[in-house]
Amino acid sequence: MKLTFLGTGTSTGIPAIGCDCEVCLSSDARNQRRRASVYVEAGDTQVLIDTPPDFREQALIYKVRHIDAVLFTHSHADHIFGFDDIRRFNSIQDAVIPAYASTSVVADLRRVFDYIGVDPVPGVYRPRIEYREFNGTPLAVGQLDVQPLLVEHGQKETHGFLLHSDGRTLGYFPDCHRMSDAVVDALRGVDVMILDGLRHRPHATHMTVAESVALLKRIQAKRSYITHVGHDLDHGPTEADLPDGVFLAYDGLILDW
Ligand SMILES: [Zn+2]
Ligand SMILES: [Zn+2]
Ligand SMILES: [Zn+2]
Repeated sequence: MKLTFLGTGTSTGIPAIGCDCEVCLSSDARNQRRRASVYVEAGDTQVLIDTPPDFREQALIYKVRHIDAVLFTHSHADHIFGFDDIRRFNSIQDAVIPAYASTSVVADLRRVFDYIGVDPVPGVYRPRIEYREFNGTPLAVGQLDVQPLLVEHGQKETHGFLLHSDGRTLGYFPDCHRMSDAVVDALRGVDVMILDGLRHRPHATHMTVAESVALLKRIQAKRSYITHVGHDLDHGPTEADLPDGVFLAYDGLILDW
């Protein structure tokens, strides 16, 4: 399995507009973070998780050339506002692309993008998407088996994903405030676990770095990565303080296992 971090930033992106803090002005490229998304490849199957506002740039920079399916964690703006750019992949692949999301997220996508998922209008360039609703049920995309798992993340219904392929496993949970014991049990011992860690101060809908590290310790992945990072965290010093086996993700980081 191979994963590319297309974005590892919180909802504002870093640098944040109009901010002169040390991290936003930092020359360390790892402190420049687009909104959270990953591209996962397993054999000849390629899936995109979430379509952030930065998706076009991310696809160009990291050379995303093919998408078999899009998976949505939830419908916050920082995870869906690049959805329209999927139409380029419809053209490249000459195919309708399936989008997997929970029933409530599909309803939000249909409301926000009321021209997507309806009958095409001749001569008008729109994404061609087939919505596939999941509600806790496992799904399969090519060589990837995907188990959506519900977490707490404020008002919006939010899932993370446990992915399996050919004996390799991955947990991707970029937006999570609390996780049930049942979900922790389902994730225990995964090869790679990715979880949010916004900052050190408590937040209403995201984990702090300490909360994330504590939860990662319970999950006991072989390797863990913190994502959805805010501008309170300077990459170098923050990662230096993390325990063994836990790393701070950054845009463009590739994992191959
Ligand atoms: Zn988010
Ligand atoms: Zn800043
Ligand atoms: Zn969110």
